[in-house]
Amino acid sequence: MSDIISKRAQSIKPSPTLAVSQKAAELRAQGLDIIGLGTGEPDFDTPDHIKQAAIDAIGRGQTKYTPVDGTPQLKAAIVEKFKRDNQIDYAANQILVSSGGKQSIFNLALALLNPGDEVIIPAPYWVSYPDIVKIAEGVPVVVLADHTQQFKITPEQLDAAITDKTKLVFFNSPSNPTGVAYSRKEWEALAEVIRKYPQVFVATDDMYEHILWTEEPFSNILMVAPDLYERTFVLSGVSKAYSMTGWRIGYAGGPKDIITQMKKIQSQSTSNPCSISQAAATEALDGPQECIKTMIEAFKSRHDYLLKALNEIPQVSCTPSDGTFYAFANFKDLIENNNAGLDSDVALCEHFITAANVAIVPGSAFGAPGYARFSYATSLETLEEAVKRIHKAVLDLGNGRG
Ligand code: PLP
Repeated sequence: MSDIISKRAQSIKPSPTLAVSQKAAELRAQGLDIIGLGTGEPDFDTPDHIKQAAIDAIGRGQTKYTPVDGTPQLKAAIVEKFKRDNQIDYAANQILVSSGGKQSIFNLALALLNPGDEVIIPAPYWVSYPDIVKIAEGVPVVVLADHTQQFKITPEQLDAAITDKTKLVFFNSPSNPTGVAYSRKEWEALAEVIRKYPQVFVATDDMYEHILWTEEPFSNILMVAPDLYERTFVLSGVSKAYSMTGWRIGYAGGPKDIITQMKKIQSQSTSNPCSISQAAATEALDGPQECIKTMIEAFKSRHDYLLKALNEIPQVSCTPSDGTFYAFANFKDLIENNNAGLDSDVALCEHFITAANVAIVPGSAFGAPGYARFSYATSLETLEEAVKRIHKAVLDLGNGRG
């Protein structure tokens, strides 16, 4: 088989977060009462005014091909969004709309990377970055930032990771899986390093921009260091903030020449994103924004509950999140000291599925062994039950020291 399948396909693995959701679904189908905290999508419905815009688009017959890079209306809404929220000025030809944020990242990697180009990926990272880089024949260079540094890389780490082969650096703030966000001060220090290396491009993945509860408002590296404009790509989408994961609309803003190449690549693969989804996304960006507030309030109160409850479990600790709907808990002590020989985060998470009927994603999936991600895109009652079960399973494991 391995001589039939391309080396490209063999070099990548399926998304581990989807694998956890699938395992949970399988066990549920067998009749087990599984609580799945593995998914990366809000549990809210898409707001009504956004759905209505899609229905109206169908009624108007907006059911045909659109320009490859998106409808003029959606592109105008994105230009306006960047101005309003980020004080970044883009012309329409600097914007590409894609079928989900993932495709935006994919297009960027294919347009920018040559075989052997290095891409710096701070870990814990969003699961798809390394595999997207590998598909584009780049080389992921993972730089780990653990809980002792709030999961954020330091300027010194960034500097040490850059070589003359480095082409691109990924940032994702607030982060999936840790929920932490870089501050303006931290961006400034990282930008100082990037300035020293004119061949290095930056991708800021702002997918969770709006799901943030820090006192300091959202910022990305380009907002703090506008001089990096010619080599920064801002990647975003409507999936998370507007609870639109199934509609598949993401977008990128950046230097015109490379955006043009990304558009060319998209024109030879998927062409335009779904015309109806584009109408819905236009309404999401241009319409009332109150729906985001309701979701953030719910995520924040679930976060506060979960953080406290996880920190009450012996041998488990968790760093507070600044936003998103993820908590990244530290299980290293439990993995080192338990009576069941569970010697990795993967073994522990498998144990939690069978012993506690709770599915969470092992930290290894995000390049950070010893941790696990809890998604709290679920009701508070469900979370309480999940934590109760995990707490009991941990107590049952014993601490292995006695
Ligand atoms: N970037 C991050 C950090 C994400 O967590 C996700 C989705 O999980 C994406 C990008 C991709 O989003 P989409 O579903 O729009 O492709």
